[in-house]
Amino acid sequence: MPPANTTSLDHYEVWFLTGSQHLYGEDVLKQVAAQSRDIADALNASHDVPVKLVWKPVLTDADAIRRTALEANSNDAVIGVTAWMHTFSPAKMWIQGLDLLRKPLLHLHTQANRDLPWADIDFDFMNLNQAAHGDREFGYIQSRLGVPRKTVVGHASNPEVARQLGAWQRAAAGWAAVRTLKLTRFGDNMRNVAVTEGDKTEAELRFGVSVNTWSVNELAEAVHGAAESDVDALVAEYERLYEVAPELKAGGARHESLRYSARIELGLRSFLEANGSAAFTTSFEDLGALRQLPGMAVQRLMADGYGFGAEGDWKTAILVRAAKVMGGDLPGGASLMEDYTYHLAPGAEKILGAHMLEVCPSLTAKKPRVEIHPLGIGGKEDPVRMVFDTDAGPGVVVALSDMRDRFRLVANAVDVVDLDEPLPNLPVARALWEPKPDFATSAAAWLTAGAAHHTVLSTQVGLEVFEDFAEIAQTELLTIGEGTTLKQFKKELAWNAAYYKLAGGL
Ligand code: MN
Repeated sequence: MPPANTTSLDHYEVWFLTGSQHLYGEDVLKQVAAQSRDIADALNASHDVPVKLVWKPVLTDADAIRRTALEANSNDAVIGVTAWMHTFSPAKMWIQGLDLLRKPLLHLHTQANRDLPWADIDFDFMNLNQAAHGDREFGYIQSRLGVPRKTVVGHASNPEVARQLGAWQRAAAGWAAVRTLKLTRFGDNMRNVAVTEGDKTEAELRFGVSVNTWSVNELAEAVHGAAESDVDALVAEYERLYEVAPELKAGGARHESLRYSARIELGLRSFLEANGSAAFTTSFEDLGALRQLPGMAVQRLMADGYGFGAEGDWKTAILVRAAKVMGGDLPGGASLMEDYTYHLAPGAEKILGAHMLEVCPSLTAKKPRVEIHPLGIGGKEDPVRMVFDTDAGPGVVVALSDMRDRFRLVANAVDVVDLDEPLPNLPVARALWEPKPDFATSAAAWLTAGAAHHTVLSTQVGLEVFEDFAEIAQTELLTIGEGTTLKQFKKELAWNAAYYKLAGGL
């Protein structure tokens, strides 16, 4: 078993299923098997396909299909299955299997040959290569049964096919991580805040995540029990990895604060490991015996793949953990983020995102500075934090709200941009971005949807991966991006209100 906070996709697999039937005889089925193996191999060779496709023997009857679905369900390594009907696979054979399948499904609509063999084509060829209607039969039964899936169309040599398959695999991996997630909360939500609340019991049913609370003083015991030699080693690591402010370095006037920050990291890490937990929340209103609000420790744990939400925000912690897994092997990063303040120059509007302390350094390839500054709220000692600017590039911000009868995801495509000017007096890590399609449309749509002020910012994956994630999770998703208009967005909200009532049953 890999550690709970792993972001590696190496231990996952996606089963590559091929449908056919016995009508064509053994020779044809051998060709079907060989050709479908070739397609799985070709896709596995693509850098855009991060999770190994495991080819399975061609399925030709209802019993084999049913058993395969049950095996996929019970195998924790399997995060999803792809299905392709190479020939005609009469779809009543698939009813039981599809009805039992609990893993994400991708319908791959392809064929072995790219081009029509104009001069040679005969009816044997037509018999062998009939995915064009075999997959239509499969599409019908999926739609009739209401099976959620992603449909990808094209020849395996088309890079777009591998790219779309890869995006879905990332979403499926994020889903697998959430399904097994144990989330540890230290303290409750910030008093009187609405959007960070939510139905934790419903979340366990919908997302599979188990959300539970521990007393912050149990954490404080672990923090204060950290071994002095471990603190020494960690502080040395900080000085090696980061640009540590002279006052915090060994021999500096405030070195003890850095040592205490290291203690928090050691205590938090050991507590989460003992719980098998890959996500957590803290609350500045509930620090018990802790002397600093956890800042740098939280930043370091996020960088190691842990999900995190501030002020008790467990819903955003889920998103951060999912994003960490979905994009863990890609350049860029993922972090808790909060829309903080704006640059409102007409035509050049930008959002400055940050948090009190807790922004993940995976958002930059540069060396963060480690600093200590007063924190006006919380009434504790000055906390240590890493300070940096997020690297420019495309990204997405995503929020999760509890709308009483359902959860709602809202995702906005953004461009993270370089700062117009340095921010020498801002003592926290930050990101500056331009939301799509434009600032006014983005902000109005976000507010109209009731989306949260806490988000995950990912610069590793884009809208498509979250669209696939929402499809898999059967959770409402509203996207704001290129082409979004407020008028259409409001209609979508109205339609969704009716749709989700009906889809949930009366
Ligand atoms: Mn906050």
